[in-house]
Amino acid sequence: MFGRAPKKSDNTRYYEVLGVSKNASQDDLKKAYRKAAIKNHPDKGGDPEKFKELAQAYEVLSDPEKRDIYDQYGEDALKEGVGGAAHDPFDIFQSFFGGSPFGDRGSSRGRRQKRGEDVIHPLKVSLEELYNGTSKKLSLSRNVLCSKCKGKGSKSGASMKCSGCEGTGMKISIRHLGPSMIQQMQHPCNECKGTGETINDKDRCPQCKGEKVVPEKKVLEVIVEKGMQNGQKITFPGEADEAPDCITGDIVFVLQQKDHPKFKRKGDDLFVEHSLFLTEALCGFRFVLTHLDGRQLLIKSNPGEVVKPDQFKAINDEGMPMYQRPFMRGKLYIHFTIEFPDSLNPDQCKALEAILPARTRSQLTDMELDECEETTLHDVNMEEEMRRKQQTQAQEAYDEDEDMHGGAQRVQCAQQ
Ligand SMILES: [Zn+2]
Ligand SMILES: [Zn+2]
Repeated sequence: MFGRAPKKSDNTRYYEVLGVSKNASQDDLKKAYRKAAIKNHPDKGGDPEKFKELAQAYEVLSDPEKRDIYDQYGEDALKEGVGGAAHDPFDIFQSFFGGSPFGDRGSSRGRRQKRGEDVIHPLKVSLEELYNGTSKKLSLSRNVLCSKCKGKGSKSGASMKCSGCEGTGMKISIRHLGPSMIQQMQHPCNECKGTGETINDKDRCPQCKGEKVVPEKKVLEVIVEKGMQNGQKITFPGEADEAPDCITGDIVFVLQQKDHPKFKRKGDDLFVEHSLFLTEALCGFRFVLTHLDGRQLLIKSNPGEVVKPDQFKAINDEGMPMYQRPFMRGKLYIHFTIEFPDSLNPDQCKALEAILPARTRSQLTDMELDECEETTLHDVNMEEEMRRKQQTQAQEAYDEDEDMHGGAQRVQCAQQ
């Protein structure tokens, strides 16, 4: 007989199984388990042994108390009763994902769990931030399952049937509406908040006072990528409030693009307004435009070119970066308005007539003039005019609609 050599207790295997280092954080462990468990799930053709190992490793390392024992004394110490019997790997998988990550279909093991609500936060971002990309750290408060009682609310893990509702979570109240009429109303039990269970005062968890959850401050880093759009969602899966027997909802940030004083955005394109003096429009211009990343763009006309009022010009690849293809960019459009002089004196007109095309179109004979009627031009605000016209049209359409409706009713009445 050989003497049994004292076996060196192994306290690294669980870390190797999950592929993390010994000083991995809870977040690292979660990530590692999430990835490996999905990959090795037997429902997806994975190896059941490997799947079981992963669950075991995660169960121990995710529990600070068990992890401590494991780090000091190794796996065997846990088998000797400290941590209790190992759980079903499928239960561990389910409680981690709060259901099946493959969707409801195909998982026969799944108890259907209700899903907690998603929490939606609007997130205001400037056009500069969407152009350059940025990250924002946001501190949020959320409920997490109490770590002391693992969300049971009691020290022993036990709960009792609520006496107020016999464990149904609902109460029925009866209202008498009249001598022979009663109304039954169902509402969540106020004693147990609709859960159907109560916890003995002495057994109440001291950390969460039996509430099963405790508030936690959490800092989320929201990465705003180049080229993201107004209304785009950035989701943090499973980061909303935790609740017992509940799939944790997501935290969703919805981007809200702030207006920019200079640039307007349409998809991947940018628009800028620029006003030219008449001289610039006729004889050429040059100006500097500061872009959203601070670069100075020199914008100039081609030699001899005349810019007309309301004309658009475009610069390729100076629009917004495209989402997830930041090296591709849209166009930068420039819309030109031209400032004309308010009036000219006869000398100035003569000087201009010497250069510009002659006024041939206005040369009429006296005979022709005699046959015309005199008119007067006056200034108008065209937008104002159009708005007033639309209002009148809408009113007319409404009146017409009323007439038709009334007519139809009359026909109906006649038929009866
Ligand atoms: Zn109750
Ligand atoms: Zn607790």
